[in-house]
Amino acid sequence: MRYSALRVIKEGLTGNRGWQPVWRDPEPKAEYDIIIIGGGGHGLATAYYLAKEHGVTNVAVLEKGYLGGGNVGRNTTLVRANYFLPGNSEFYSHSLKLWEGMEHDLNYNAMHSQRGLINLFHSDAQRDAFVRRGNAMINQGDDAILLDRDGVRKMVPYLDFDNTRFPIYGGLYHPRGGTARHDAVAWGYARGADQRGVDLIQQCEVTGIDIEGGVVKGVQTTRGAIRAKKVGIVVAGRSGQVAAMAGMRLPIESHVLQAFVTEGLKPCIDHVVSFGMGHFYISQSDKGGLVFGGDLDFYASYAARGNLPMVEHVMEAGMTLMPMIGKARVLRSWGGIMDMTPDGSPIIDKTDTEGLFIDCGWCYGGFKAVPASGFAFAHLMATGRPHDTAEKFRLDRFRTGVSIMDEEGTGAQHNLH
Ligand SMILES: Cc1cc2nc3c(=O)[nH]c(=O)nc-3n(C[C@H](O)[C@H](O)[C@H](O)COP(=O)(O)OP(=O)(O)OC[C@H]3O[C@@H](n4cnc5c(N)ncnc54)[C@H](O)[C@@H]3O)c2cc1C
Repeated sequence: MRYSALRVIKEGLTGNRGWQPVWRDPEPKAEYDIIIIGGGGHGLATAYYLAKEHGVTNVAVLEKGYLGGGNVGRNTTLVRANYFLPGNSEFYSHSLKLWEGMEHDLNYNAMHSQRGLINLFHSDAQRDAFVRRGNAMINQGDDAILLDRDGVRKMVPYLDFDNTRFPIYGGLYHPRGGTARHDAVAWGYARGADQRGVDLIQQCEVTGIDIEGGVVKGVQTTRGAIRAKKVGIVVAGRSGQVAAMAGMRLPIESHVLQAFVTEGLKPCIDHVVSFGMGHFYISQSDKGGLVFGGDLDFYASYAARGNLPMVEHVMEAGMTLMPMIGKARVLRSWGGIMDMTPDGSPIIDKTDTEGLFIDCGWCYGGFKAVPASGFAFAHLMATGRPHDTAEKFRLDRFRTGVSIMDEEGTGAQHNLH
C-alpha cells in the first residue's frame, strides 16, 4: 500500500478500515543468505539497502525485542552534517543527502525538519575552531554560516547573553541541520525492507554465532538455530556482548546517555541549539516538548537508565544557557546505551571470521548516521568492498594506530577533556 494525502482523506472518510499492518510477522526460515542481528535504525537500514540497492532479499533481521525499541527510539533526534575530520566529514555529508531524499524514497513521513542548528562558541579560540570546522563543511559541499554575537541574538534572543562565565561570542549556523521523528525512521526502513521481501523477526534474541573453520555458518537464537552465508552484527550498545559470541574483544566501552523532555509548550525554540561548553543541546518537538540532553554518564554500564548527578548537570547547563527553561516542567527522562570507541568514530568492517561483518561504535552521531551506515554496510556485505564514504571506519585502526579519527579529541572518556 502506498501512502498519500489522498489515502489519508479516503481512510478518514471511511472509518480508517483500509489500513494494513505495516510489516509481516514471519516465522524464521531455516536458512538465509544474510542475517542482520539487531532491528535498530542501522540494522533495518542495512536490510533495506541490501534489498533495494543490491537485490539481496533472502535476508532476515533478528531483533531480541521489538523493532525500534532500542536507541533508535530513544535519542534526541538531531540530524546534521557538521563533522570536521576526513573520513567522518564525507560520511555524514552522504548521510544528510540520504536524509533529504528519505521520505520520498521510503514513502514514509519521518518528519525530517531542517530547521537549522546553531553551535555556540564562547571564546576566540573556540571561534577559530568553528571557523575551521565551517570551512571543512563548505569544502565538503555542505552549508555553514559564521554568526557573530548579534547574529545569534537575532535568531535565538532567549539565550542569556550576559552570562559572564560563558559569554556568547557567536555561533556556527548549519541551516540544513535539524531533527527527525526517530521511531518513524525505524518504521519507514522496516516497511521498505519488508515490502522487498526481507523477514523482520522480532522477539528473537541471538544467543550464539556458529563458526566452523573460520567461516560463519549461522546463529543460535531463542527461536532455534538459523543458518546463513553471511552475518552482520548491528546491535549498537550491545556490540561488545554479541561480538564476544564470535570470540571478539572490541575496542568499545558501553556508556549510558540520558535525554529529557518537558511538558508541551507553545512554539518557542525554532532551531536546534548546541552549547558545547555546558554539554547541553536542545530542540522543540512538533508536540511542543523541549527535548534536550547532555553528556554521557561517564561510567561503563548496560543499564538503560541514568543517574541523578548527570540529571543535575544537564539542568544546570540548561539554566545557564537559557534561564527561561526553569519555568518548564520536565515530563520524563530516559537513558540509552551508547558504544564509545577510543576515537569516538564508528566501525564498519569485515571481521577475521569469513562472512562475519560488524557495524558498531555509534555514540552521539548514531542517529544521523542511520541512512549512510545502512547504505555502506549493505554495500560492504553485498560486494565485500567498503563503500567510498566509509572506507576509513576500519576495525584495525585501533591496532595499527593508522587513520584514527578523534573528532573531539576525547575518545571513549569524554570526561577527560
Ligand atoms: C539519549 C540518547 C540521545 C541520543 N541523541 C542522538 C542525536 O540527537 N543524534 C544522533 O545522531 N544520535 C543520537 N544518539 C545516538 C543514537 O541513538 C545511536 O547511536 C543509534 O540509535 C544506535 O544505532 P541503532 O539505531 O541501530 O541502535 P538500536 O536501536 O539500539 O538497535 C540495536 C538493536 O539490537 C538489538 N539487539 C541487541 N542485542 C541483540 C541480540 N543478542 N539479538 C538480537 N537483537 C539484539 C537491540 O534490542 C536493539 O533493538 C542518542 C542516543 C541516546 C541514548
